[in-house]
This record gives sequence, structure tokens and C-alpha cells, in this order.
Amino acid sequence: QTIALAATGHLKIGNFIIKETIGKGAFGAVKKGTHIQTGYDVAIKILNRARMKGLGTVIKTRNEIDNLQKLSHPHITRLFRVISTPSDIFLVMELVSGGELFSYITRKGSLSIKESRRYFQQIISGVSYCHKHMIVHRDLKPENLLLDSNKNIKIADFGLSNYMTDGDLLSTSCGSPNYAAPELISNKLYVGPEVDLWSCGVILYAMLCGTLPFDDQHVPTLFSKIKSGRYVVPYSMEKPAADLISKMLQVDPVKRADVKMIVNHGWFQVDLPYYLFPE
Ligand code: ADP
Ligand code: MG
Repeated sequence: QTIALAATGHLKIGNFIIKETIGKGAFGAVKKGTHIQTGYDVAIKILNRARMKGLGTVIKTRNEIDNLQKLSHPHITRLFRVISTPSDIFLVMELVSGGELFSYITRKGSLSIKESRRYFQQIISGVSYCHKHMIVHRDLKPENLLLDSNKNIKIADFGLSNYMTDGDLLSTSCGSPNYAAPELISNKLYVGPEVDLWSCGVILYAMLCGTLPFDDQHVPTLFSKIKSGRYVVPYSMEKPAADLISKMLQVDPVKRADVKMIVNHGWFQVDLPYYLFPE
């Protein structure tokens, strides 16, 4: 594939016209795009190969990225197509138009119990689906959680995600350290799907409180706070929510709540829509 100039003067990749920038990723821009034949709008994430190499990121094989196209879940941003050129990889994705959960929380200060629970249920449903397909996200945080026009969660950014293979070391340089699990920042041999559930615990705390359980300007201090697993629970937090969070923020991944435990928790079960966890 090559980038071409469409009759309109816009750049074109595959059957898509590339339009304005809608977000900034670590390896390149995220642009709006339009499918030429149908007028269907998409988001196109551009991964610049040189930039990835410079940042020490191993470029995933076509095969691995292709596999992500098989994922289809109401709360995961769909990846429609992967288009490779010698300089870039274009990820053609579902366009999610409601902005980042991060800016929404920042705007509102914190979210109500009802709203937090609704988002949390959707996030756990998406994460559970990924884990069943042997994909660990590893970089779950509110910046990577988008809201669609109906205020539903769409998990985005599989930039750091990788395939879980038994015994394989999923080593990575983690993104935003505030949401990173202790084992992810301590050179542990085993890093598995449990890291995502830690991040989900941090996200739930952030939605309910509007603050982070582990925070510090100084990264080494932040890391030691995360590894200690000690955080402050505000008096205002209801007991069942605090209980669920404490089960997710367990430093030892073996003791940490798994998806089953979270889903069966009393706080999680309230108003749980059937479609999220059928059967
Ligand atoms: P990175 O992996 O480099 O962090 P992201 O995939 O998180 O890149 O994309 C960066 C930003 O672009 C997101 O935080 C979001 O604001 C925007 N963005 C990403 N994907 C989409 C999408 N499918 N629809 C709309 N905006 C998106
Ligand atoms: Mg991101």
C-alpha cells in the first residue's frame, strides 16, 4: 500500500481519505478518516516505524496486529483494518466521538456511584473478553478509555498490549505509572492478566474519588508507594466499593481479585446489565 493524493487534495490510504488530527499517540497522530465508497467515518491511528524504533518498541508482526482485528465487543474499540507502508502502520479503527473518560472525570471532579459502577461494569466486561482471547492490555487508564456518543465506554489503545503465551515474559516499558501494577514496575518474571485488574482498581478509585490512590511527583517515590500497596480510603467512600477496590489493589497478583470474583461482588452486581456477562 502507498499513500496517495485523492482528487480532493486530501491524503488517501487504502480506501480511506485521511482527515484532521483528533488525538496524539506516542508513535504518531490519530486522525479522522472517511471510507471513500460508503462515507463511513473512522479513526486512523498512525504508527511511525522510525519513531517506534527510536523509542525501543518492538514492532509487532503483521500477524499479531491482524489478530486484534478479530476482537469484537461492545466496549472495545473495533480495529477494522491494518494497512502497512514502508514508513508507517495505519490502524483503521471505529471512531469514538465522546472524548476520553479522563477529561470527563477531570471536568466533573468525580463521578457518582451509579455512573462509576456503570462504566466499571463495561470496562470489566471488555477486559474479561480480551483476557479470554489471550490479550492483556497492560496500559489501562482513563486516557485509554473513550466515551461514545451514548456515554458508553470503548477501551482504546492496544499500543502496549501483547499476546499472553504461557511462560512468556511480557516485558514492556509501562506508560502512565499511576495505574501500573506493582509487578509491572518491579522486574518480576511473571506479568500476566492480573496487571489489568490492578489498573481497573485504580480506575474505579479515580472515578469515585477524583483523585489517585497512588500518586507522587517523584517517580521512584510513586513506585515505592505502589509496591507498598498502601493508599488512603476517603471516609466518603461506601464500604462495599472500598471492599472491592481493596481486593483489586492487592500487591501479590496471586491474591488479587480475578474477573470472576469482581463480577460476583455485591457492589458490582447492582444494576448489572445482562448483556455484559451472559450465561
Ligand atoms: P497511544 O497508544 O499512543 O497512547 P491512543 O490509541 O491512546 O495512542 O490514542 C491517542 C488519543 O487519540 C486517545 O487518547 C484519544 O484521545 C484519541 N483516539 C484514539 N483512538 C481513537 C478512536 N478510535 N476514536 C476517537 N479518538 C481516538
Ligand atoms: Mg493512549
